Amino acid sequence: MIVLNYHELVDADPSNAWGLIHDVFDAHLALYEDRLISPQTFLQRCSDPEADAPDAVLLTFDDGFLSDYTHVYARYMETGRVPGFMSFIPVGFVGMPGRMTWTMIEELHKEGVAIGSHGMAHVDLTAVSDRELDRELALSKLMLEDRLGAPVLLFAFPYGRFSRRVWDAALKAGYTHLFTIQLGSHRGFEPFLYSRLCLTNEMDMNYLRWHLQDPNAARSFAWKVSTKLGLYRRMMRVRYR
Ligand SMILES: [Zn+2]
Repeated sequence: MIVLNYHELVDADPSNAWGLIHDVFDAHLALYEDRLISPQTFLQRCSDPEADAPDAVLLTFDDGFLSDYTHVYARYMETGRVPGFMSFIPVGFVGMPGRMTWTMIEELHKEGVAIGSHGMAHVDLTAVSDRELDRELALSKLMLEDRLGAPVLLFAFPYGRFSRRVWDAALKAGYTHLFTIQLGSHRGFEPFLYSRLCLTNEMDMNYLRWHLQDPNAARSFAWKVSTKLGLYRRMMRVRYR
């Protein structure tokens, strides 16, 4: 399966590289609309190694932007074009200008959007103390679970930054699926890591087309060689030590 990662959808003039105007998102959607799966189907298939569907595409949105509610949910999910998505919430930002409120997040959850944590304050977790790391992971989980009345098992690393210390702490906090920003299909180099392609407004359509055809196409020579030799996981464990 292929996991795509988006941020804010806007009418015009995105303020940073991660904001996409609606027309561009529409054009993306046209490329993979018939391949989209819901987060529930994705998670089911993750737990059954026989059930992979290489072509299937899952949408994820990070940072809890208002457009998750007003656009992805209200315009696309309600009309059936998007069967569902994952929304990763930096809990400290809930209710701030441009971000969703708790009421919206609760509604998304009730309607089948998979809500995950994106920490509290959207910090680089590889750069914080152990105490701060535990707080980012545990408090955000607790607050989301308290609001949703359901376990929150999904976590996306802010800025895609992680290390072994970070993933150990996330697993210890009770998360089961940890989402990174890495090339390739959904399976990361550890069974609990899930790779995503992060879409920016600087990325060209051909690149997305290419990724949808083969999510390993843009991977490095080192990846190709180490995978062939069965050394990739060991190499990554050293890199992310
Ligand atoms: Zn983020």
